Amino acid sequence: MDSKFGDIFRMKRYSVFAVAREAARYHTGWQRAWASPEPKKKYDVIIVGAGGHGLATAFYLGKNFGITNVAIIEKGWLGGGNTGRNTTIIRSNYLQDPSAALYEKSRSLYETMSQDLNYNVMFSPRGVMMLAQTEHEVRGYLRTAHANALQGVATRFIDPAEVKKLVPIINIHGPRYPVLGALWQPRGGTARHDAVAWGYARACSDMGMHVIQQTEVTAVRKEGNRVVGVDTTRGPIDCDKLGIVVAGHSGVMAERAGFRLPIESAPLQALVSEPIKPCMDVVVMANTVHGYMSQSDKGEMVIGGGTDSYNAYTQRGSFHHIEETVRALVETFPMISRLKMLRQWGGIVDMTGDRSPILSKTPVEGVFVNCGWGTGGFKATPGSGWAMAELMAKGHSPLTEEFSMFRFREGKFIDESVAAGVAH
Ligand SMILES: Cc1cc2nc3c(=O)[nH]c(=O)nc-3n(C[C@H](O)[C@H](O)[C@H](O)COP(=O)(O)OP(=O)(O)OC[C@H]3O[C@@H](n4cnc5c(N)ncnc54)[C@H](O)[C@@H]3O)c2cc1C
Repeated sequence: MDSKFGDIFRMKRYSVFAVAREAARYHTGWQRAWASPEPKKKYDVIIVGAGGHGLATAFYLGKNFGITNVAIIEKGWLGGGNTGRNTTIIRSNYLQDPSAALYEKSRSLYETMSQDLNYNVMFSPRGVMMLAQTEHEVRGYLRTAHANALQGVATRFIDPAEVKKLVPIINIHGPRYPVLGALWQPRGGTARHDAVAWGYARACSDMGMHVIQQTEVTAVRKEGNRVVGVDTTRGPIDCDKLGIVVAGHSGVMAERAGFRLPIESAPLQALVSEPIKPCMDVVVMANTVHGYMSQSDKGEMVIGGGTDSYNAYTQRGSFHHIEETVRALVETFPMISRLKMLRQWGGIVDMTGDRSPILSKTPVEGVFVNCGWGTGGFKATPGSGWAMAELMAKGHSPLTEEFSMFRFREGKFIDESVAAGVAH
């Protein structure tokens, strides 16, 4: 434990008064945002993976169930996986009822996240539109809009004129794929991805939980079929319950625990342009041409494409992907042909066959798994943590019931391939 702060790392609240006070004393009094403790011998709960989902799970275990003897163990740095690599789109316009419930819970938690965590996550409900550029997509999105109306998720289908009004830089008369309309979710948007991880880490640390970075979980120890602890690169640590929340490495961790998951891992890439003046204040996804774009607060155009067509664990970009994604988007946004690219990267996404996540008990008693968010789990971070915490604390949660890993054995798929599409 960071000796400067004693045994429990109590946070001073961030506020306008704190900013004024620190400005007056040349910023000498800020605390570190979270502690870097030495691991204990035993915790009630260990979460593997300090991405957004792992940290959110720990946060809600503490906040909703008073379980705070928790360690979140991360092999790299917190938020350094997909949480810090995504294009930050938040929406809940999915088709199936269980998905709508989970994603809308999550979107609604984003609305108050900055206040709940006392940390500015820069949630910007600027609106998300998914362009319909074929008759097939028009039918698909009309269907989703009707389903969303029944689910209480606020979306509507808008015509090309409204699309153009909301996004003046768009070319709605593209030669191959003119814009025929869009599925519009006005309260969708973006948030600052690193801040989501940092805010949860700080709140977990404040509750006395241990966020342990640079420590890999290398094995799961069992007695009979029950988990009793893990081996790590810093030695063995015992626990009563274990949550595996490692996204692209879920298959690897499951193998270490002694079971298999119906997951494929593949790289997903994104890029940003040089910063330019504000030109687009909504998020646009163009699934037919395979690309999506928003503008960050710094002015960069944030651009994402599809997944690599092969399974891999490489966390990097590639030239052919930049070319494909940019070529596709130029047709709908001709102005981006004049932009320079600033940087490009990749993350490892964990995909299920039905493009829905897994939040589940596992064949090993006391081990729970949260994965399969694939290309679109950033939006689900708080809802996933909320539901996973309930599952781990109580053994069941209404939000996770349909998302068991055993649904693939039973054929009870939650098909979201249309809602997932290229998009995130
Ligand atoms: C390029 C890109 C764009 C995306 N765009 C969007 C988007 O716009 N909107 C959206 O909703 N989603 C998007 N996503 C998906 C989203 O980023 C993920 O679904 C989400 O961030 C997953 O969060 P997580 O906490 O489960 O995983 P991660 O953030 O990857 O965290 C898992 C952590 O586990 C750690 N770990 C793994 N193995 C071990 C081990 N053995 N021991 C200890 N630690 C371990 C890893 O180091 C990692 O930090 C995108 C993803 C990518 C790559």
